[in-house]
Amino acid sequence: MNKIIYLDNNATTKVDEAVVAAMQPYFCEFYGNPSSIHTFGGSVAAKIEEARRGVAELLGAGFRDKDNIATEIIFTSCGTESDNTAIAAALNARRERKKIITSVVEHPAVLAHCKELSHLGYQVVYVPVDGRGRLDMAFLTKEIDEDTAVVSVMWANNETGTIFPVAEIVKLAHAKGALFHTDAVQAAGKVPINVDALEIDFLSVSGHKLHSAKGVGVLFARRGIKFKPLIYGGHQERGRRGGTENVASIIGLGVAARQALAGLEHERTELAALRDYLETEIAKLVPMIRINGDLDNRLPNTTSISFEYIEVESILMLLDRFGICASSGSACTTGSLEPSHVLRAMQLPYTAAHGTIRFSLSKYNTRADIDEVIAKLPPVIARLREISPYWREVGSE
Ligand code: PLP
Repeated sequence: MNKIIYLDNNATTKVDEAVVAAMQPYFCEFYGNPSSIHTFGGSVAAKIEEARRGVAELLGAGFRDKDNIATEIIFTSCGTESDNTAIAAALNARRERKKIITSVVEHPAVLAHCKELSHLGYQVVYVPVDGRGRLDMAFLTKEIDEDTAVVSVMWANNETGTIFPVAEIVKLAHAKGALFHTDAVQAAGKVPINVDALEIDFLSVSGHKLHSAKGVGVLFARRGIKFKPLIYGGHQERGRRGGTENVASIIGLGVAARQALAGLEHERTELAALRDYLETEIAKLVPMIRINGDLDNRLPNTTSISFEYIEVESILMLLDRFGICASSGSACTTGSLEPSHVLRAMQLPYTAAHGTIRFSLSKYNTRADIDEVIAKLPPVIARLREISPYWREVGSE
């Protein structure tokens, strides 16, 4: 088998070995239940609080408890659960209001929930984006009113990496008494986050996107806002999320969060440079490409590149033969190969949307990985264009 060149880190990441090492003792050695009275279980509870502090530091959340506990950090099972809980809790906290504002380019973890809520009588307003994936701020500003319960806008888009003006949107929401939630699943660990400075009410994170295990997530829920759990059960997470804790994964996430905080500068400088190098070299070698998203304001690890007049599935299959893992900008539903809702919302021409690849890098990628892509990708594109009837008709003119 080829060496794997993994450039699909917005889908999921490799678990850091230090995270695995931190998790290991909590399976067979310290397997006590953190809710138990005995010291054996109680010591596990203390480690969970340490992880909670690690996550709070990454998110810029203070420790507001007299015992130095980061009470606003709630451990969940994933980013999706955090998103669902946040919106439901916000609607409950602003019961008299019936309007939800979100964007057209959110992850299904928000969009599918909003669709369901629209069936339950809520008015859901979707803010459009422009060709670079930037929010229509005039539309957003006009829509936020006294009936708006929650504005839920992602920090950064998973397909293009475009970063949204969260600080500005929080202020607009609060000015009308609405709450603000942000899906920071892609942003956490890649760009600085400070929930306190920005006065964010709810924020979602997913462990497996920042070199931690799958099956653990975080919801930041600001103190003072009435909270309603999504999952009822025991008193875990101070009654805000029932169910025995995913102990090992939570402890691992604490370590991953501390590492992510320490690695932010590397993301901003070296990782962004590696991503830029990939884009620049591909642009030199391959004609008729587009780089999608807000190039002035996007995640340091992400690039979305459209190769006109070919199908992304073929590109990905050929790259796969070289062990290169990337992903399509298309959501392939059975029987149809529609471009993703994000690319459609950006109104990319049909010929570009269908040939869009997302490369998402991580701290584990090297210059050699990128050189391999630069060597392998252009011939793949040339070969596919040779057999593309569209390219022969239009593209090669
Ligand atoms: N939100 C965004 C922006 C994502 O990219 C993802 C995962 O791809 C999620 C939410 C869902 O996270 P999880 O897989 O932890 O449920």
